[in-house]
Amino acid sequence: MSEEKKTNYDVIVIGAGPGGMTAAMYASRADLSVLMLDRGIYGGNLNNTAEIENYTGFKSVQGPDLAKQMYEGATQFGADYAYGAVEKVELIGDEKQVTTDMGETFTAKALVIATGSDQRKLGVPGESEFSGRGVSYCAVCDGAFFKGKNLIVVGGGDSAVEEGAFLTQLAAKVTVLVRSDKLRAQPIVQDKAFKNPKMEFVYNTSVTEIVGDEMAVTGVKTVNNQTGETGEIAADGVFIYVGNVPMTEPFKDLGILNEKGWVETDEKMATKVPGIFAVGDVRNTVLRQVATAVGDGAIAGQQVYKYLEG
Ligand code: NAP
Repeated sequence: MSEEKKTNYDVIVIGAGPGGMTAAMYASRADLSVLMLDRGIYGGNLNNTAEIENYTGFKSVQGPDLAKQMYEGATQFGADYAYGAVEKVELIGDEKQVTTDMGETFTAKALVIATGSDQRKLGVPGESEFSGRGVSYCAVCDGAFFKGKNLIVVGGGDSAVEEGAFLTQLAAKVTVLVRSDKLRAQPIVQDKAFKNPKMEFVYNTSVTEIVGDEMAVTGVKTVNNQTGETGEIAADGVFIYVGNVPMTEPFKDLGILNEKGWVETDEKMATKVPGIFAVGDVRNTVLRQVATAVGDGAIAGQQVYKYLEG
């Protein structure tokens, strides 16, 4: 006889990135029953990150490798893991009911929202048309398709510059298009990139369209934001890193989001709904890093325990 699937937990952690995995580890180590739910593989944005050199304890670590190690740590005290994109969260008295796109319903006394953020789209013609045919948001995933090719990276933050640098290991040349006159990336990231002979930075330039033939991307149309001059740059691929948007759609009716859609919490990671906590990139926070997400997760895992103890 098959064992009936467990659907009721002390805590459900929605999202298995660094913050969610840490919360799950702390809560399960405190002997709570914990379910981690994720719409895909554990790791969150770690899976889109080539190299991390600012996470304590590692001089340098590949994002997917760190994700695997975190997952092993997160599940060692008995936390369960299930696939499913959360579509709805309902409050039934003190209980939280979570419904996924797999048609499954789980209940818990407490929730930790750790859904992180998604990459912002550029919103220009050709972007969705050529997605997967030269347009990408993940250098680690797609870089290998562009060996010896000319690439464009759009954006000027840490992600654009770091992932652009990663792409130079494969591509012939990486041109970074920055819409303003300066980068937003940290100085150490910029310094390294400026020394990279395969990287070129073009400032004050926005992409107005991604163009291609029936097969794939062939380039981008641009405009100079100072002179208004238009142009076209040939390229085999376009990697877009123009910031993030919160993944909070299922929580919009709970009254816990700010006007931009990020989750508001206090310093205990508690939202204003008792028993609902949030950690990591999905929070309205001043710094979105692996280290800060992990710190949030530790606090939430411990606070969940305190909440359930009453
Ligand atoms: P970000 O810091 O928000 O930077 C977004 C970049 O995209 C900015 O340069 C912005 O330009 C540009 N941009 C926005 N909309 C654009 C558009 N429509 N067209 C062209 N450019 C556009 O995003 P991120 O680089 O993804 O980083 C997100 C967070 O993760 C940050 O807090 C970052 O520090 C952190 N992060 C840290 C590391 C690390 O510590 N190693 C690595 C990756 C990410 P403007 O400057 O003109 O607004």
